[in-house]
Amino acid sequence: MAQSFNSATREALLARVRFYRDLGLTEFYRRPVDPALLVQLEAESISWPGNEPDSMQSLGAPSIRHPSGEWVGNNETQPAHSPPPSSQEDHAIPPRKPFLAPPEVAAAIPAGARAAALQLIREDIGDCTRCALHKGRNKLVFGDGNPAARLMFVGEGPGADEDAQGIPFVGKAGQLLNNMIAAMGLKREEVYIANVVKCRPPGNRTPEPDEGNTCSPFLFRQIDVVRPQVLVALGATAATYLLGARQPLAGLRGRVHAFRGMQLIVTYHPAYLLRDPRQKKEAWADLQIAMRELGLKPPARS
Ligand code: URA
Repeated sequence: MAQSFNSATREALLARVRFYRDLGLTEFYRRPVDPALLVQLEAESISWPGNEPDSMQSLGAPSIRHPSGEWVGNNETQPAHSPPPSSQEDHAIPPRKPFLAPPEVAAAIPAGARAAALQLIREDIGDCTRCALHKGRNKLVFGDGNPAARLMFVGEGPGADEDAQGIPFVGKAGQLLNNMIAAMGLKREEVYIANVVKCRPPGNRTPEPDEGNTCSPFLFRQIDVVRPQVLVALGATAATYLLGARQPLAGLRGRVHAFRGMQLIVTYHPAYLLRDPRQKKEAWADLQIAMRELGLKPPARS
């Protein structure tokens, strides 16, 4: 890399390296730097060129985080505080776009105005082409249910049935979700249901990070409008985008997470429960936590 720099660039680079090292920033290299190169550069006496922000970008300074949560600057460069890749194998992994930080919690909207507020979000989404998922879309699946619900479910993304009808959870997994809701003593119309992504991923694959990051801000806005007391994340994708970090589902289930003034409960996705019905007992235990928080009692069996 260094061989291709002319001497002016090398001088500026060394000054920049020293500057960042003096600040304690040493880990913004995309690859581990050959220590011999640093020693060689140190040995050369070069002047300090100043610290204009534009020259920082052109010299490969660390990316900085925009208030929106996006990393900006050199797309190829990792965030300043990320450890450098530890092995060659790590280099083979494409850099992963970090999940957006959740937006600030918006002011509460009166219950009677929530349907209109949701409609505004739907209009903002429009005939969306923000990510590649639009290419395979039949119908965009925005959300369904009571705009002033006390309980909201968040899934991953539409499947084939949802894509055909434009309504979340209407296929087999949806039927199971309806049964889960009924077991809680609620009607589907009483809850609100939405997904992390609004368009069907091809073959029902997990949304790619750029798809989830592009679409999930609309989910956050829906949540801010509905303001349920309890949110249930159905599966790992919903939990990841809501909590902003990927963690094993096992460690997230079975308890209440604080979430922007609401209570978040994580449980298995109904599609997973269809594949492994033995886990239904565990999912029911999670839903009972939600019921306890909502003060609900299961309906009497007839
Ligand atoms: N799976 C989901 O995550 N969402 C749906 O809407 C349907 C199936």
